[in-house]
Amino acid sequence: MSTPSEALHQALAERFGHSSFRPGQEEAARAILEGRDVVAVMPTGAGKSLCYQLPALLLEGTTVVISPLIALMKDQVDALVARGIAAAAIHSGLGAGEKSAIRQRLARGELRLIYIAPERLSNSAFRAALLRSGVARLVIDEAHCISQWGHDFRPDYRRLGALREALDVPVGAFTATATPDVRQDIQRQLGLHAPLELVTGFERPNLTLAVEECRSQQAKARELARVIAEVGTPGIVYASTRKGVELWGALLAELGLRSACYHAGMGAEERRAVQDAFLQGNLQAIAATNAFGMGIDKADIRFVVHADLPGSVEAYYQEAGRAGRDGQPARCVLLYTPNDIRTQEFFLRGSNPDPMLLRTVWQQLGHGLGDSEIEDLAGRDSARRMAAATAARLLRQGAETKGAPPGRGDLPLDLHQLREKERRDRQRLDAMVSYATMDFCRGISVYRYFATGAISASLGEAAEEGCGSCDVCLGWHQARTRDLTEEEHQQARIALSGVARLDARFGVERIAQMLTGSRAKPILRFGLHRLPTYGKLGELTLPQTKELLSALTSAKLLRRQPIQGGPSGAFVLALTPQGREVMHDRARVPLALPSKEPSPAAPPPGRTSQRPPPAPELRAPASADFEAPHAELLQRLREWRTQRAKERGVPAYVILTNRSLEALAVERPLHAEALLAIPGIGPAKLESYGEELLSLVARGDSAAGGSPPRDSAPVDGGEG
Ligand code: ADP
Ligand code: MG
Repeated sequence: MSTPSEALHQALAERFGHSSFRPGQEEAARAILEGRDVVAVMPTGAGKSLCYQLPALLLEGTTVVISPLIALMKDQVDALVARGIAAAAIHSGLGAGEKSAIRQRLARGELRLIYIAPERLSNSAFRAALLRSGVARLVIDEAHCISQWGHDFRPDYRRLGALREALDVPVGAFTATATPDVRQDIQRQLGLHAPLELVTGFERPNLTLAVEECRSQQAKARELARVIAEVGTPGIVYASTRKGVELWGALLAELGLRSACYHAGMGAEERRAVQDAFLQGNLQAIAATNAFGMGIDKADIRFVVHADLPGSVEAYYQEAGRAGRDGQPARCVLLYTPNDIRTQEFFLRGSNPDPMLLRTVWQQLGHGLGDSEIEDLAGRDSARRMAAATAARLLRQGAETKGAPPGRGDLPLDLHQLREKERRDRQRLDAMVSYATMDFCRGISVYRYFATGAISASLGEAAEEGCGSCDVCLGWHQARTRDLTEEEHQQARIALSGVARLDARFGVERIAQMLTGSRAKPILRFGLHRLPTYGKLGELTLPQTKELLSALTSAKLLRRQPIQGGPSGAFVLALTPQGREVMHDRARVPLALPSKEPSPAAPPPGRTSQRPPPAPELRAPASADFEAPHAELLQRLREWRTQRAKERGVPAYVILTNRSLEALAVERPLHAEALLAIPGIGPAKLESYGEELLSLVARGDSAAGGSPPRDSAPVDGGEG
């Protein structure tokens, strides 16, 4: 007799052809094999399936797997059958004959695994058949769907508690995205007994997590183009609306990429075709809503860019985590504008109807009104219309569950629970906003969030030890700072003293209005036009002033302070001790201000999401764009970079980005100051590589016969 551990290792090698377990797999598989309940939280791609498929091979009886998506089930079953393992799936996509054939195999105990869509469980004949067959284990995949606190609640998952009770077998619950409270909810609802709780595999050192705060849609477009130029394809751009998806899809096409869109508004067949083309490598990029990607097994995704702020860190990391499964460097970038928070606030309101609205809609349902009438009666505010539609949906579901006709008697919903859900939705959004706005290691932020449920928990102690691979740890934002001109320094001091006078009382918008001398109503109402700093930055535009305030914040001269009890992402600005030093002219600090070029006009506020991103000004320059001497130098620079990257054991772009190399090849800087004008080269890079780069360029110059530098680089040096 072999030990359980030996049996598992043997099956791993013989049946699955893997040489070793990944983090957490063996522990989870053993616990399941030994009959212990398990709640395992492992990120997408970590290999959750193996944790229950392996024990299923070794156990007497069938393992029942509940899985929310037919496509996922099919893929899994196909893969198992291909390995000679008896597995099947039962779902609505099968004909009656197929279903009954599978039921017979189940009854005869021929199946190692059976995958079931949760809505099947409403069929009592099927439930009874399941109870009569020899079920050994129950597995819940995507188990967060059971919890209303999760981001992807599915009412059908509510039946699983009863199923577990009826089957009375050990349960394994698996998910990629559960914070501690969701984990507890899963345990409670499934009635697990002292389960093994496993949270593992969230560290993904090959992913570079980054956030770019963008002031406009154009700036987002430029960032996207830059990411693609730096890390290559394939990749995914996520947007939160269909319209957004189409706009970003158009942009990808304009960048010359083989690309396509994917969203729920497309037909199932079309979506399948797009997905297949992407999986097979026929598409370089996809613009998609979050409908795309669940269960996608594509290892070589080089970037996942979020063009809109997601509603939670769980959702964000699950989507971002689709990048770099092959272990090679990959980039996950969140492009964020403060406006995005408003969009999320909108969704939050729209998906959490208040009790008054619920009662109104309940009566309307009783009078037989349809969805569109109910929405129209809710008025013109679109968040309220969405809330009315949500209310109608929840109430109909509630009525159906209770078997009561709509509109009669009490509301068929637990109002306390709904309030609780809203509170948690808000908490999740707050955490997401913290992730986007804080200058703290993104990797640590995420790991902490999954462990503790908060982003900001005891930030201080871990502050020295970052993940080492995110934008903060790599110092990207510092690298973009530059010394200020005397005039800019004075402007910074004025801005700081403006904030000092209004310490922690107003946000960016009001302070910028005050500094630029706006006559907007709130300025006059609050008497801000009587401050000595009023209008002192009149030579700057409002967007420029906001940019300055944001650069002062990044440099930690100002601090964003959340408003107690205020909406998500609403901040007031406060002066920091360092800020005070600069204000009194006792210190000077370089800032991440754009270089002094005319910047594109900002779109009118509040409409950014409806405007198509304009044709990108930044092209991803292909080597072919370079004349021979440039190409030669570029090649030498690349070789140099590869060598340095190897020596330091870091991805190449950590040394210098493609963008920097290309600018170097074209601009051919001859001295240190000119090097600093190259995008991506700041004081630190100058210090480390300045001399080497200058000598590489000098050699290039003699080889090229001293060709004069072009007067403009093919890349855009502006930061939006
Ligand atoms: P998850 O459900 O956690 O998203 P999957 O179970 O779908 O992940 O597994 C993702 C991929 O990892 C699959 O292609 C699977 O074959 C592979 N995989 C899982 N475990 C191992 C292992 N121990 N060694 C090598 N590959 C593995
Ligand atoms: Mg899975």
